[in-house]
Amino acid sequence: MSAPDLGGVAVIRLRGVGSQLQDKLARLGIRTVQDLLFHLPVRYMDRTRIAPIGGLQPQTEVVIEGEVRGTDVVYGRRRSLVCRLQDNTGTVTLRFFHFSNAQKLNLAPGSRLRCYGEVRLGSSGLELYHPEYQFVDSTRPEPLEQGLTPVYPATEGLSQQRLRAIVNQALAMLEEGRIQELLPEALSGTPSWSNAPGQPGNAGVSGGNSDAPRSLEAALSYLHHPPADAPIALLAAGSHPAQQRLAFEELLAHHLSLLRLRRRLQRQRAPRLPRQPALEQQLLAALPFTPTGAQRRVAAEIARDMAAPVPMLRLLQGDVGSGKTLVAALAALNAIAHGYQAVVMAPTEILAEQHRASFEDWFRPLDIQLAWLTGKLKGKAREVQLAAIAEGRAQVIIGTHALFQDTVQFCRLGLTIIDEQHRFGVHQRLALRQKGSDRAIPHQLIMTATPIPRTLAMSAYADLDCSVIDELPPGRQPVNTLAIADSRRNEVVARVRTACHAGRQAYWVCTLIEESESLEAQAAEATARELSLSLPDLRIGLVHGRLKPAEKERVMTAFKAGELDLLVATTVIEVGVDVANASLMVIENPERLGLAQLHQLRGRVGRGSTESHCLLMYGTPLSRQARERIAIMRETGNGFIIAEKDLALRGPGEVLGTRQTGEMQLRIADLQRDAHLLTRIRTAANALLDHQPARADALIQRWLGDNERFAQA
Ligand code: ADP
Ligand code: MG
Repeated sequence: MSAPDLGGVAVIRLRGVGSQLQDKLARLGIRTVQDLLFHLPVRYMDRTRIAPIGGLQPQTEVVIEGEVRGTDVVYGRRRSLVCRLQDNTGTVTLRFFHFSNAQKLNLAPGSRLRCYGEVRLGSSGLELYHPEYQFVDSTRPEPLEQGLTPVYPATEGLSQQRLRAIVNQALAMLEEGRIQELLPEALSGTPSWSNAPGQPGNAGVSGGNSDAPRSLEAALSYLHHPPADAPIALLAAGSHPAQQRLAFEELLAHHLSLLRLRRRLQRQRAPRLPRQPALEQQLLAALPFTPTGAQRRVAAEIARDMAAPVPMLRLLQGDVGSGKTLVAALAALNAIAHGYQAVVMAPTEILAEQHRASFEDWFRPLDIQLAWLTGKLKGKAREVQLAAIAEGRAQVIIGTHALFQDTVQFCRLGLTIIDEQHRFGVHQRLALRQKGSDRAIPHQLIMTATPIPRTLAMSAYADLDCSVIDELPPGRQPVNTLAIADSRRNEVVARVRTACHAGRQAYWVCTLIEESESLEAQAAEATARELSLSLPDLRIGLVHGRLKPAEKERVMTAFKAGELDLLVATTVIEVGVDVANASLMVIENPERLGLAQLHQLRGRVGRGSTESHCLLMYGTPLSRQARERIAIMRETGNGFIIAEKDLALRGPGEVLGTRQTGEMQLRIADLQRDAHLLTRIRTAANALLDHQPARADALIQRWLGDNERFAQA
């Protein structure tokens, strides 16, 4: 192979691609000829048959051929050029909103046209808007397309014809064998498709090469130019073997990248921290409860990891209220017992504050020193904390992502605990890992209250071991969830009054569509004022993200102490509030929130032994999706089921959060659709890394390219 691999050939090398087109292609993420080949059609058109005009149906894509009967400029709501086209079965209108005078003259009566376009119901009956067209000569019939015509994801100023033309050049280079086959056939495991039932012949698969139908080359040329009899429905569903061949390779590349990262990590050293029962027993003895079986089990799993000289990298999943904090505290305690520091990091101030409160409660009696660091801590107070951390006086350090900053120097960091993993990316996890001493890197425990569906966990977190707390502390009652239209607001207010008069406490959560903390705060303020008027005898507090931490804490403490009956809040209380006497939650406009967030919010009630209620007070009309979400919330309180449904409704990108999607950007595969491939992918990934590491590297480079660089740490 003398010519360079297409992954290294820039698109500007193709005929007809100048710097302008290069920029447009870059907008589609296409930089190399290989990128262009991976830019697959979103759908296909059948231009292999001419449809009789008399039999056209709206909302279908057709090829028609006929004679121009007349062409006029029409002044309706918008000026348009209207051309009547007739064959021996009927007449149809072609309509152009953008046109030139030359075009009008060209479409002269008597000329013959072949048109491609979508049939719609327009003001003159059936019409084709802006069809592609060409003039034909009835004495020399123009050949029709032999295969299906691809329709590509495009961008402004880049036509389908132009894209097709350059893809065809790329395909010609592909046929010269200039793309490396990286998947050993035995591993790909996809069936060949050229002889699949319903697809006679070998059309679309280049060459007569017997192993061609499974190769990358064959898959790509098939998908850019499927034969006329290709199974369109299968292609539209993304489940054609040629698509699956590519999805397999892409998912494998992602999996390999995580696995390689993990293996590198396992070659690194971490301090050995075998379990020290003395301090642990002291802590447990002081608790007002005993740990659940699930808490004990995962604590043991963590302890086993920390006893090894290899860095732990463990994901702890547990539903809201399942008691992850205690498990984290036990792990931290073990590091501290060995003279190491432990750091606990939360995604928000308020959650960090909650952790601080719990850790202070549990660790003070054990005489353990705590440090505190968030973005809002400034000046002298900050320096005091930084010094305590650097000099090793602080044994456990709690804070927000401010702990990632370079100015934070740890003394002997042995364990990093990250709460709410899905809000931090792999990048940041690595940044903290660098914070250990030169020789050893800290163990890492990552906690999430948003259970991650198994399929996602397997692919997005292939670099992690998983522990699951699958049991709630005893005595928890399911939260009764009701949906009520906001036209019945008075009834909702009455329920709040009744509950509070009976000695319970309640939350009233305000939501906003926009991600604006200040607008949301204003809305909450307005609601609090209004509720004070309709509920004058209740003690009402207000908490939102714009309050000063001290003020927020004052309100939360008052609510916790039972000095407030009703807490009006924004979604900031999603995490971090723990008040057992609160048994009623009203969520205004729940349709604005995703399932995971609703589940988190609802988890704030039902923490004590009283029966709890959650009222979803929705605005009408509800979209179909919103209605489905609300129905799911009413049906189940199980975080894992909710997470699975969330995945089905929203797709993996949103479930994992924006940070993660940047790293899981899939071009062809779809985690949901292709989940059935994952088991085979895991086996294949291990085999490749063991026996053909160079191929593994090439696969990662092909599919992840520069996005993978951060993982070289
Ligand atoms: P999450 O998993 O959502 O972080 P927390 O750690 O905040 O849950 O625990 C929720 C509440 O349950 C806290 O008040 C905590 O003290 C309490 N808790 C934790 N474990 C137990 C247990 N085994 N029995 C009773 N209560 C528990
Ligand atoms: Mg928690």
